[in-house]
Amino acid sequence: MTSIQHNLHLVLEHISATASRCGRDPKEITLLAVSKTKPASAVREAAAAGQLCFGENYVQEGVDKIQALENPGLEWHFIGPLQSNKSRLVAEHFHWCHTLDRLKIALRLNEQRPDALPPLNVLIQINISDENSKSGIMLEELEALADEVSRLPRLKLRGLMAIPAPEADYSRQLAVCRQMAEALAELKKKHPGVDTLSMGMSDDMDAAIAAGSTMVRIGTAIFGARDYSATHNNN
Ligand SMILES: *Cc1c(COP(=O)(O)O)cnc(C)c1O
Repeated sequence: MTSIQHNLHLVLEHISATASRCGRDPKEITLLAVSKTKPASAVREAAAAGQLCFGENYVQEGVDKIQALENPGLEWHFIGPLQSNKSRLVAEHFHWCHTLDRLKIALRLNEQRPDALPPLNVLIQINISDENSKSGIMLEELEALADEVSRLPRLKLRGLMAIPAPEADYSRQLAVCRQMAEALAELKKKHPGVDTLSMGMSDDMDAAIAAGSTMVRIGTAIFGARDYSATHNNN
């Protein structure tokens, strides 16, 4: 077993133990392996151990890996900030986009999603706790954007995503994560097809799972520390 495969087992065991402790079925929680800045060979190792879902933050880097892997069994999630000039690549290559936060991008993705592919799964990103972050919308804006997105035939609204501001205290992490879970429950009333809450990273995964996250996004604990000194396209 390689170290990536070993790490993957540890993370899956941790998710499973945390879910069971909260009285949740571990099967409700999908592990998204965040492979940004890591080579295609690292993704291949994880895939060989059975990992199917991968998250990428930079459009071109993600597309390069999707094409290098050429594995139709894998599911690719775009989780970085999306600029409109990069939307076509996301629409043409990815299965999911977690960071939808404006109608303009939704309209472009809808128009650019190839007819031959199933609709692009989208999550609306909520700016839940970080006032300085430019990504995500306020909860007050959710209903209007969700209504618009749900009318676009080439997109499938699946739920919500959040990156809570770093917070060491578990009970405060939990409070923020619960706000997101309530927002998802509210959204579900009007849009019964939504089923996904993308929330929880290495440092707040336990609180996210306790609150009801269905998809945790883990990079470092699987692939090791990232090296940003290597030049890569920042988009
Ligand atoms: C990088 C990243 C992650 C994973 O972070 P780690 O600390 O490496 O586990 C999760 N979500 C998003 C949106 C990210 O950009």
